[in-house]
Amino acid sequence: MNTIPKRYEAMNVEPKWQQYWEDKRVNSFQPRKGRIVYSIDTPPPTVSGNLHMGHCYSYSQTDFYARFWRMNGRAVFYPMGWDDNGLPTERLVEKRLGITPEKVGAEAFLQAIGQTSKQLEEKYEKLWRRLGLSVNWRYTYSTISPAARKIAQHSFLDLYQKEDVYLSSSPTIWCSFCKTAIAHAEVTDMLRQAEFVTIAFSLEDGQTLPIATTRPELLPACVAIFVNQDDKRYRHLIDQKAKTPLFGKEVPILSDPKADPGKGTGIVMCCTFGDATDIKWWREHALPLINIIGHDGKLNQNSGFLTDLDIKAARKKIIEELSNQGLILDKKAASQTVSVHERCETPIEYIETKQWFINVLDRKEMLLEAGRKINWHPAHMLSRYEDWVQNLEWDWCISRQRYHGVPFPLWYCLKCGEVLPAEFSELPIDPRTQNPSRPCKCGSEEFTPETSVMDTWMTSSMSPQIAGGWLNQTKLFNQVFPMSLRPQAYDIIRTWTFYTVVKSLYHFDKFPWSDIAISGHGLSPEGHKVSKSKGGNILDPIKVMEKYSADTIRYWAASTKLGEDSLISEDKIAAGQKLINKLWNVASFAFPFLKVYRPSESIPCLVPVDKWVLSRLQSLIIEATESFKQYDHASGKIKVEAYFWDIIADNYLEMVKTRLYDLEDGAPEKESAKFTLYQAILTLLKLLAPITPYVTEEIFQLCFKRHEVAESVHLTYWPEVNGELIDPNAEILGEALVEIATAARRYKSEHQLPMGTPLDRIKIALSQSELLQQLEASITDIKSVTRGKNIELGEETPGFDTPEQRLSVHID
Ligand SMILES: [Zn+2]
Ligand SMILES: [Zn+2]
Repeated sequence: MNTIPKRYEAMNVEPKWQQYWEDKRVNSFQPRKGRIVYSIDTPPPTVSGNLHMGHCYSYSQTDFYARFWRMNGRAVFYPMGWDDNGLPTERLVEKRLGITPEKVGAEAFLQAIGQTSKQLEEKYEKLWRRLGLSVNWRYTYSTISPAARKIAQHSFLDLYQKEDVYLSSSPTIWCSFCKTAIAHAEVTDMLRQAEFVTIAFSLEDGQTLPIATTRPELLPACVAIFVNQDDKRYRHLIDQKAKTPLFGKEVPILSDPKADPGKGTGIVMCCTFGDATDIKWWREHALPLINIIGHDGKLNQNSGFLTDLDIKAARKKIIEELSNQGLILDKKAASQTVSVHERCETPIEYIETKQWFINVLDRKEMLLEAGRKINWHPAHMLSRYEDWVQNLEWDWCISRQRYHGVPFPLWYCLKCGEVLPAEFSELPIDPRTQNPSRPCKCGSEEFTPETSVMDTWMTSSMSPQIAGGWLNQTKLFNQVFPMSLRPQAYDIIRTWTFYTVVKSLYHFDKFPWSDIAISGHGLSPEGHKVSKSKGGNILDPIKVMEKYSADTIRYWAASTKLGEDSLISEDKIAAGQKLINKLWNVASFAFPFLKVYRPSESIPCLVPVDKWVLSRLQSLIIEATESFKQYDHASGKIKVEAYFWDIIADNYLEMVKTRLYDLEDGAPEKESAKFTLYQAILTLLKLLAPITPYVTEEIFQLCFKRHEVAESVHLTYWPEVNGELIDPNAEILGEALVEIATAARRYKSEHQLPMGTPLDRIKIALSQSELLQQLEASITDIKSVTRGKNIELGEETPGFDTPEQRLSVHID
């Protein structure tokens, strides 16, 4: 092409290069002998709604590193996955299609899930491609695929053989809305208004014992009363008995240091189960168990007149009844922290059920140690992992009472109750539709399948193995595992990070990755985390890309460090246009000179100004490379931009104009300028390529492709420092020149003169004479940038300026 378009049209440019990269397989994973592999354990987005700007934010940050390491010669393995095997996908289908498994049957429901997932995954992929994520699409996986199911089941069987999983009937954290057991990691605290009612228990001597509670509906499950033995008010009651109101059941009064004299009336009822303390008491004091809450969240026949009511209705009813009988002593509203299921915000219950667990409590030290050996970016995120592991109180509950998910590969013998696991060779298997291939040890051939499915983290915790083709692509797996990087957000450290570390250690005795990069969230204007379900549509990424560009979204994502949140605001995203447009203007300026320029192997004779620009360029390469290596894209971007604006755009281009326009081709000063322009702009494009891949590609193709071997800027090698170009003296000169140029601009703006106005005379006074020679050699460039007709250089005039000043510029 012999001309460069006047304006940069991202709308046309971006899809063009997206197609080109795909055609030329620019991003493909090409491991070769001697080439280091950089493998990324990409988070598979949950298929549960639309991807939003928050996703664009964090996924762009990962892509910076994929592109950076690819340009540094690594074979980058960058797969994408879709997490479509769990509860969130079920919920979405229930909401979108208005169907439930109860209404349409499990099979039709699963089919609907399959269809909806497929449509959404196509949509997701389209968005990612448009955003310019340099993913290896041929390695895309889905967590419900046969291969993923096989890995999840294999993992279970392996742990079963190693006795790292166990089946236990015990109090389990239960969501009555989702109707399933959940893991502790899925529970979060929520502050809400609650009503404390003080109800009257009675003592053997007929006296009243006041107990305050927010859960009076648990009264039928009350098995004991606790006081603190230091509490003088009640100490004498220890080991006596009390009667529950309405139900008239006799319960023991016991002492425990966990009963807080300052809370409520200082007397606590222990029900099976209101909270984790109840479970502790129940265990430690060997109390009986009265289960009153069913899996559907309704009270069962153990609750007398409350039977069949849901929890809220039961609470209302029992307060009414207590009140009618004058058994309520006090009522007051107060805020209270309750534990809720993070997905649906339903307060959790503790119900005794039979569930499968993975041992983790007995290996805290090993898991802590592993966390410390992984490189965290930013480093302080490690403490979130440590806090979680240190405070673990539950083993990992991995069974869920849902329809959609990976089934457990096992049956129970109907005769003797023995667990019969499937064979490794039979996986993946669905025990609900297939029978075991052998009889039970007892000889019986009658079985019942395990009907629960696995926690979706059972599968996602194997993402490095699924993406890497464990079990069926041994060569690939050995190339990419353990992985180099796990990128993810901070809110799933206790789940995804933790579980992946557990699995990798238990199965392979290895860390899953060497580095973990924790991104922050994109926040709504009100400062809330944007989620797929809530307010995810404040800015539609596709519309933003159409209005601005994918590059601007990426530029916005690059402006914030790992681990930090960023407001999703149109203004902030539009800000990227300034750099993109300026890059385009600079390229347009340089285009006529670069298109005919043949870059030389050796460094030509350089004038001082060019030495300055090139010397600073070398420092920039060192700093920007270091920033990327430290997973600090934000500092890298700031440094590149500072160089681009302060040195190139605002000063150098004006300085070099005269040499470029007025001198004949072949003149050493002009050749020096062309060499410098070529080096500086090409290097800037490369340094910016990971962040803004489209505009850098367009300029590369227009201005550099004809002289460079690479098919794409993304296939060029990351800039390397040329020690011969480092020149501290030239950098001192450069600072002086910027000062002169700035003084001239200030003078013109103070006198309200257009910037192009010629100046008759500029007097430059120096306090140190060593700059004199270099400045003399730069007169053409000084004239060019200041439009000064006469430049006078001299030693400092006494009284003219303060002696500390190296240089003062006087213009008249
Ligand atoms: Zn729930
Ligand atoms: Zn049996």
